[in-house]
Amino acid sequence: MNNVLDDSLARSINNQFEQAANILIVTHIRPDGDAIGSLLGLGLSLKAQKMNVQMVSHDGVPVNLGYLMGTDQVRKKPDGGYDFVVILDCSDLERTGGIWNGHGKPDINIDHHPTNTNFAKINLVDSKAVATSEILFNLISYAGLPITGAVATALLTGIVTDSLGFRTSNMTSQVLRISAELMDRGGNLPELYRKSMVNRSFEATKFWGIGLNNLEKKDRLVWTTLTISDRKEVNYPGRDDADLINVLSSIDGADIAVIFVEQPNDKVKVSWRAQPGFDVSRIAAQLGGGGHAPASGAEIYGNIDEVKGKVLQLTSDLLGFSSN
Ligand code: 5GP
Ligand code: MN
Repeated sequence: MNNVLDDSLARSINNQFEQAANILIVTHIRPDGDAIGSLLGLGLSLKAQKMNVQMVSHDGVPVNLGYLMGTDQVRKKPDGGYDFVVILDCSDLERTGGIWNGHGKPDINIDHHPTNTNFAKINLVDSKAVATSEILFNLISYAGLPITGAVATALLTGIVTDSLGFRTSNMTSQVLRISAELMDRGGNLPELYRKSMVNRSFEATKFWGIGLNNLEKKDRLVWTTLTISDRKEVNYPGRDDADLINVLSSIDGADIAVIFVEQPNDKVKVSWRAQPGFDVSRIAAQLGGGGHAPASGAEIYGNIDEVKGKVLQLTSDLLGFSSN
C-alpha cells in the first residue's frame, strides 16, 4: 500500500526514528544528485537530532558531489547492526545493489518513481514529486526535524539535479517555494548548481566528443553508443554516460533519445529521454529497469549489438515506425 504524507504520518515516522537504536539509510546504485542529496539530507538531519545513523551508497559518492558536507560519512556497505531501514530514491530493492539482504520488508521506502514496487512497510511514494529530496523536505518539515545548512545544501542539490535545473515538465511553483526556503536555510544555489550541473572534467568532455561523433538518427529517434574501449581511450573514470543523454534530449526534431553504455560482464546500461506525450518507463520496465515517463533507464544483459537491436526496435515501435 502507498501512504500519503501528512502531518500525523510524519510525526509517527519521526517516533519510529526516535525509537530505533541504529538507523540504516540506503540509496541507489550509480547514485545521482538526488540519490546522494536525499541520503545526506535525511541522514544529517537525523544525526543533528542525535540519532545513530548509517548512510550507505553501494557505489559511493560521485566526485562532482564531493562538495556536499558529510560525504566522508557515507559508507559503501553497512558497518555493524541496525534495527530500522530507510530506502531512498529506489524504485525496487535491486536498486540498492544488494545492500538489503531480503529478509522481511524494509521499514520505509521514500521515492518518486511511478514504477516503484511499494516494497516496504511504509511506502512514501509520490510520483508527482520532482525529486525524492522534495518529499524529504516535507517529511523533515512536518516532523519538526532540523534543517541545518548541510541538510539544506543536500536537499537543494537533489531538487536542482533531478529537475535538470528547474526545467523538467514536472516542475511546480511549490518546488520553487521549497527551494527558496532551502536557500534561506543555507543552501547556496549558484554554487551548488555550478558544481552539480555545470562543471565537468576534461575526460568527461572528451567522452562526450566520442558519443557525439557516433550520434545516429532515424525519423524522430536519436541514439549513440559508448563502449568500454571509448572510456579507456579518454580515461573517463565512471561507468556512466557523463550525462551526455541530456544533450541528446535537447536535439530539435527528436521525440526520444537513447544512449547505450557498455558495462563489464556483458551488460549494457541504457538511458531513455522522451518529449512529453511518450512514456519510455514502459519499455524500461519491460527490460528490467524503470524510471519516469520522460526519463528512464535499465541495465540489460547481452552484447552491445544485441541490446541495441532489441531496444531500438521496442523504442521505434513506441514511436510508431520500424527501426529496420
Ligand atoms: P538514468 O538513465 O539517468 O540512469 O536514469 C533515468 C531514470 O531512470 C532515473 O529516474 C533512474 O532512477 C531510473 N533508472 C535508471 N536505471 C535504472 C534501472 O536499472 N532500474 C530502475 N528501476 N530504474 C532505473
Ligand atoms: Mn530521484
